[in-house]
Amino acid sequence: MPTTDPRIDAAARELNNYLPNSYSSVRWATDMATAALAAADAVDPLRKPGHRAEISGDTWTLQHPPECRADMLACPLNEAMRSLDPTCLADGVWTVELDADKELNFTPVVTP
Ligand SMILES: [Zn+2]
Repeated sequence: MPTTDPRIDAAARELNNYLPNSYSSVRWATDMATAALAAADAVDPLRKPGHRAEISGDTWTLQHPPECRADMLACPLNEAMRSLDPTCLADGVWTVELDADKELNFTPVVTP
């Protein structure tokens, strides 16, 4: 059964491929993928799904999640970010999302 995280689904498929057919278990592979990704996300917040904006002075870069990568130019956050004055934010890495009013919401990414 697919999860809501495409990373887990992809990892579960790969893990399941390593099992002999008699031991094949999508459920086991999904549980192992979930545990491994949760552990990786816990030590590296930049791996978490969603958009990340890196602000440095008057420039910014936007990292898209896997679901955007097929057509990043169509991503609504690109357009919203173009109208942003990046100097209104502190330098660093931020999670960014659009709210229901199409306003950008930024949350600082705190690295351990
Ligand atoms: Zn995007």
